[in-house]
Amino acid sequence: MSPEPNPGPPNPVPPSGGLPEAGRSTDDLLAELSRLKEGDLPVREGKVAAYVYDPGRPEVREAGHRAYMEMLEVNGLDPTAFPSTVALERQVVGAVAGALGGDASTPGIFTSGGTESIMLAVKAARDTRGPAATAPGSGRGRIVLPVTAHPAFHKAAHYLGLDTVSVPVHPRTLRAEPSAVAEAIGPDTVLVVASAPSYPHGVMDPVEEIAALAAEHGVLCHVDACVGGWVLPWLEGVPPFDLSVPGVTSISCDLHKYGYAPKGASVVLFADEELRRGAYYASADWPGYTVINSTVQSSKGAGPLAGAWATLMALGASGYRELAADAMAASRRLREGVRHIPQLRVLGEPDAPLVALASATDDLDVFVLADKVAAHGWFLQPQLSYAGIPPNLHLTLTGVSLAGVDALLDVLAKAAEEAEGIRPDVPEGLAEVIEGLDLSALDDRTFVELLGSVGVELGGPAGSGMSVVNTVLDGLAPATREALLVRFLSALNSPHATG
Ligand SMILES: *Cc1c(COP(=O)(O)O)cnc(C)c1O
Repeated sequence: MSPEPNPGPPNPVPPSGGLPEAGRSTDDLLAELSRLKEGDLPVREGKVAAYVYDPGRPEVREAGHRAYMEMLEVNGLDPTAFPSTVALERQVVGAVAGALGGDASTPGIFTSGGTESIMLAVKAARDTRGPAATAPGSGRGRIVLPVTAHPAFHKAAHYLGLDTVSVPVHPRTLRAEPSAVAEAIGPDTVLVVASAPSYPHGVMDPVEEIAALAAEHGVLCHVDACVGGWVLPWLEGVPPFDLSVPGVTSISCDLHKYGYAPKGASVVLFADEELRRGAYYASADWPGYTVINSTVQSSKGAGPLAGAWATLMALGASGYRELAADAMAASRRLREGVRHIPQLRVLGEPDAPLVALASATDDLDVFVLADKVAAHGWFLQPQLSYAGIPPNLHLTLTGVSLAGVDALLDVLAKAAEEAEGIRPDVPEGLAEVIEGLDLSALDDRTFVELLGSVGVELGGPAGSGMSVVNTVLDGLAPATREALLVRFLSALNSPHATG
């Protein structure tokens, strides 16, 4: 008798990508999550000086998390179906406006993050003042921005069909130069940008001067206070940077940064209603439900909104004042301490608790330093050289950083000694190989193999052993860096990556 071919279970859809046939238990799933997270950077207690903002207060965290969960299933797609989202958004936007030079009537939008806030400010500029809006057919609108402005503006320009014009910053202070901004403004300019402060170095652009210039030319001015917007209002002696400054027409403020809210939380404010309407989008061009969106996202959970609202209300102004003072004290102590580490120097003159450390000697490579620091359990964020600014390591200091800043200084001093004289182990000839690569002809598998051959394992634990990658990227022009980064991301998400 010949064996019957195994018919398998009756008519199941075969799980193609690893979906289990039978559902798994919650315990089992959560155990897997905690295993997966073992390779991540820690999100609390300030040893990771970027990406994460820990309020260090369990009751505040709990308020944010519980409110987030409470509203998780509510859909922000339709404010008439879920009026709670309108009420919460009003409160959040109102609180942010109140601290950033507006009032209860200031138009704003709650968004998923800084990038989305900026995207909407740029869309509002394009659709209310762009050449296509004012004189159709006259060309693409332009955004004038300092070289230190966040890439979200380049991304918005890319998505929205605009061009960017980058202007230099002062070589020592790293602040935008108003004269350079003035020169760059032209007939197609739809928006001028100033940062309060810039993310890389924590320095404030001269907002008053830049906004005045923009107004003089009849151009809109966006203040990118994504990182600074919820720490600067709580500090003393900060130069004016918000909606109260004449000429400022929009401002972005991320609550998932110094607002210490769960991720997915930012606010963009506008000087008038017309601008906010320019950010909105509606479509009735199909036979389904009418689409009216205030954000890029359409269906969206109300968790981030509720989480941000609860965090704001749980901390209150006094909580934020304390956290901001602690973050700034940590930053000051760090900068003072770095003066006693001869191999290091601070870039620019930070006005906010963000600091960039560069090498003060030819014998110290900052990317090697980052690896040494990582070996001591700390993460500093590498920043590549750009526009005459040397490679450096970025730190975003938060309220919890103060308790650890002396330990961090010890680690920095030790790691600087360990790193001295060491060059990243870049294989000979690699730069030439990369220059000669036809990236478009390389599939993900080959790219992963190439990375492996130079000692880069994709999918390993986060935050260490990146000095070779950073050094290679640092030697390339920005456009080549970008092409490689896209390949890197694609390879990382391919089945060929290990880990
Ligand atoms: C973080 C940041 C952004 C982008 O915000 P995301 O929330 O990461 O999208 C934009 N501008 C500045 C100055 C930032 O610090």
